[in-house]
Amino acid sequence: MGLDAGGIGVTRGAISAAPVPAHLDEWERRVLGDPNLLGDIGFAVGGPFHVLYPPRVGRNIQGFHAAFEQAGVDGVVYYGKKANKSAAVARACAEHGAGVDVSSVGELTAALAQGVRGTELMVTGPAKSDDLLWLATRHGALIAVDDLDELERLAALGDSTAPVRIMLRVLPAASASRFGMTEAELDRALVAFHGRESIRLEGFSFHLSGYDAVARAELAGALIARCLHARTLGQPATTLSIGGGFGVDYVPPAAWAEFTEHVDRQWFHSGKSFESYYPYHFPAPGPAMLAAILAHDGLAQRLRDNAVRLAIEPGRALLAHAGFTVFRVQGSKIRHVDGAPYHLLTVDGTSLSLSEQWFDSEYLPDPLLWPTRPGSTTPTSVGAATCLDSDMLSWRRIPLPRAATVGDLLIYPNTAGYQMDSNESAFHELPIPPKVLLHDAPGDRLRWTLDG
Ligand SMILES: *Cc1c(COP(=O)(O)O)cnc(C)c1O
Repeated sequence: MGLDAGGIGVTRGAISAAPVPAHLDEWERRVLGDPNLLGDIGFAVGGPFHVLYPPRVGRNIQGFHAAFEQAGVDGVVYYGKKANKSAAVARACAEHGAGVDVSSVGELTAALAQGVRGTELMVTGPAKSDDLLWLATRHGALIAVDDLDELERLAALGDSTAPVRIMLRVLPAASASRFGMTEAELDRALVAFHGRESIRLEGFSFHLSGYDAVARAELAGALIARCLHARTLGQPATTLSIGGGFGVDYVPPAAWAEFTEHVDRQWFHSGKSFESYYPYHFPAPGPAMLAAILAHDGLAQRLRDNAVRLAIEPGRALLAHAGFTVFRVQGSKIRHVDGAPYHLLTVDGTSLSLSEQWFDSEYLPDPLLWPTRPGSTTPTSVGAATCLDSDMLSWRRIPLPRAATVGDLLIYPNTAGYQMDSNESAFHELPIPPKVLLHDAPGDRLRWTLDG
């Protein structure tokens, strides 16, 4: 990794972070290999932009469906919509037989507008607004109830000919989550159902933090008994939802091990350090994690034996490898640390379009510099076009393959899950970056339109 002549003359291991190269999909290689496409889109848009390739969302949905089928389990996928606002993602769900998990009137209507049927919606969230509950019941959505008060409000919205379809959200034992109901609250909810024909209990749900397959399998297994008990009380209780948290594999194992074992604040602009990172290498991502959950301790068999349908609510994993984010280099400075030089870029957008910084962490898959040209490895940190000193996209000094210059594009890979738009606002009155959709066209070409 030493620098050849013409570089700015440092060796990685001192002030430059270990490289964390992202896995690239075939469609991404095609875009990057096109001599004009990205530059033309950038020219038309005139600022930073996000790119989405909806067919990849379709493939991710199919992957989950295939995992259910292979395990012989009746399963249903609800896309956790907060992970990306794109209309094209909701449309891909409608086209590929996935429902959508929503938490606001805005999310609910956006999903309906893309062809997701009301009965294919799951509504989650704490103490939901009356408006949201009313709309959800009008459209026959499945509602994950978070407390007893919500149950009372819902009972008033249904009647015996059109009962409100609900699940009870479970607070896992020993969890400090603010969501879900305790054992005692669940018991009281079941009593509250008694003799009420306006609500129908379809099952139980939970959503765990972290990415552990075994914890999800164990809790799902334990909740089968709750379903059987609810059936003795006359409720259908046919569905268990195990929420989201399916991992995404962003980077290869060796690079990830190298980074995590050696990470040092010496690698970061101004000596910045972070407490934790997302597990960017994830050996059994998305559908493979679902397969592991279903295989654990005979869960698939137990679900079958008890006629329980398993619902999942993947957000991030449904968007794996389905998009990236493009910034234009607007300025470049040279700075020194311990006498060693590095580049400090300013790009034409903000960290609001790469959300990880807003969760006290940093997005680690390395950005790609476009176009590719020969050069020498150049440690580079990336700042935003704002007047906040702390508004950095990458504090770490990324070993870019050459020195970036004004007008180059910097492409952050695999950003569709949460990075793109969960935090975007028109800070500084900068426009919010548009989402560009790529479409396959005859002759192995890609064409683009704007989302929404
Ligand atoms: C956020 C959320 C999800 C999606 O989580 P991912 O980690 O993106 O898969 C699913 N269900 C609920 C209830 C959520 O709050």
